[in-house]
Amino acid sequence: MKNRRAYLKQWDKKYVWHPFTQMKDWLKDEPLVIDSADGIYLKDIDGNAYMDGVSSLWVNVHGHRHPHIDAALKKQVDRLSHSTLLGLANTPSIELARRLAGIAPRGLKKVFYSDNGSTAVEIALKMAYQYWQNKAKKNKTAMVHLSHSYHGDTLGSVSVGGIDLFHKVYRKIIFKTIALEGHGWDAVENLEKLLRVRGRRIAALVVEPLVQGAAGMLVWPQGALKKMRQLTQKYDVLLIADEVATGFGRTGKMFACQHEGVSPDFLCLAKGLTGGYLPLAATLTTQKIYDGFLFDYKEYKTFFHGHTYTGNPLACAAALANLEVFQKERTLEKLGPKIKFLGKKLKMYYNLPLVAGVRQEGFMAAIELKGNPDDRLGARVCRGVRKYGVILRPLGNVVVLMPPLAISAEELDYLLAAVFRAIEEL
Ligand SMILES: *Cc1c(COP(=O)(O)O)cnc(C)c1O
Repeated sequence: MKNRRAYLKQWDKKYVWHPFTQMKDWLKDEPLVIDSADGIYLKDIDGNAYMDGVSSLWVNVHGHRHPHIDAALKKQVDRLSHSTLLGLANTPSIELARRLAGIAPRGLKKVFYSDNGSTAVEIALKMAYQYWQNKAKKNKTAMVHLSHSYHGDTLGSVSVGGIDLFHKVYRKIIFKTIALEGHGWDAVENLEKLLRVRGRRIAALVVEPLVQGAAGMLVWPQGALKKMRQLTQKYDVLLIADEVATGFGRTGKMFACQHEGVSPDFLCLAKGLTGGYLPLAATLTTQKIYDGFLFDYKEYKTFFHGHTYTGNPLACAAALANLEVFQKERTLEKLGPKIKFLGKKLKMYYNLPLVAGVRQEGFMAAIELKGNPDDRLGARVCRGVRKYGVILRPLGNVVVLMPPLAISAEELDYLLAAVFRAIEEL
């Protein structure tokens, strides 16, 4: 067995190319190989347990190996693992679509499935664009996005991305967009000016509601989202809400849009949709958009888009079980006090000289460190907390805290203390 563990570490370096990773650095280190999990803990092949402080990249909700989701998946495996939605329907995808339409902001009644957050956004962009083309508004083509936006890594979603470090190198192979300057109310003001002058040529505005996650948890002022929704309505521009990160309870409500009573034209969901079990995404839209694609076939206005694993029954079964656990365990009700506790505890970080700022929106939190991004202090803190049995993943100089919603107050306390110590030790 000892041999196998050594081989696995060797083979990882030999065969696997890791995402968002400078492999030159990776090869210098021994990889941490995860082999099993229990609740909010991950276990490596050497038997060490680590608290999953970033919910396995923002996806896990109720903990790993949750008995209810596990059982639902096992049951689904015994019936059907995959069948296509191209020309056929399947049971779990129907039930899930109905459930999602039931909990989403008002008006979002049509569900288009894909596999990940990038494709969920990509689909919304293509639908929004084609909607206007189908209506013969041929010049209504421009896409507007926020500065520092992140909507995924496929070229369509990179086109509406605003993080230079990730996106700049691709600028010659992406489509042209309009980036809104400024942040918060400044950006809203700029949006109003833009729409007044060029609204007739703008197809859609894409936003991350309330908090821009990948930008380092940039929090938006209360009311800005609602105002942006009013402006897009006034100037007949479609609103795409990318809730890939904020959806499924992260901000304290099921969806971030619900804090401001906003119903977008498109709602993009992925990460937490299956509780962190399987890749699945959904782009929800309205009857109005859906009807904009209903024509005789020979007019060629069909939405010609689909992914092979669209509506995968296993993933849909996991998502249904995930939503059942939300109800059964009253996850959102229990989250309220934990969000308050997190907010109170985060204040102590201001006492650390290396801390430049602390941000929180619901159960999403970030600690920004002072210094040059190239020093990668975030990565060093995340490395430092490993010895306290905690796994984290930073964004540049920002330490991200995104534990599963199911974490207990004591565990949260431990996590915060471990991060505090790791920063002190820098
Ligand atoms: C993670 C993320 C995406 C991309 O999702 P993937 O599943 O990684 O493709 C898109 N938008 C937001 C807001 C995200 O946080």
